[in-house]
Amino acid sequence: MPQWDSCCGCECRVKEAWACVSPHAGGYLCASCAPKFSDCLETRAEVLYGLSKLNQIEEPPPNLKKSLETQAVLMQFWRSIVEIPLPACENAVSLLVK
Ligand SMILES: [Zn+2]
Repeated sequence: MPQWDSCCGCECRVKEAWACVSPHAGGYLCASCAPKFSDCLETRAEVLYGLSKLNQIEEPPPNLKKSLETQAVLMQFWRSIVEIPLPACENAVSLLVK
């Protein structure tokens, strides 16, 4: 499971309002550790808090905050893992954005 609530490089807690995540690092990276990875994405800390809680429950709550941004981050991680385009996921996100 990706590490969402502490830095994959130095284990510090999320401290930025907008934080970096890296599929290759395996989750959140603090500002000091992020430059070591070229695949960083920026997302809100709220998304990371939600993702961290999702690791502890069986299914997402119906009122998950920032659900679209959360889905976009997860899609980037899945795309990195499978290393091929994921048109169904990308289409789902694009439909939600409209
Ligand atoms: Zn760090």
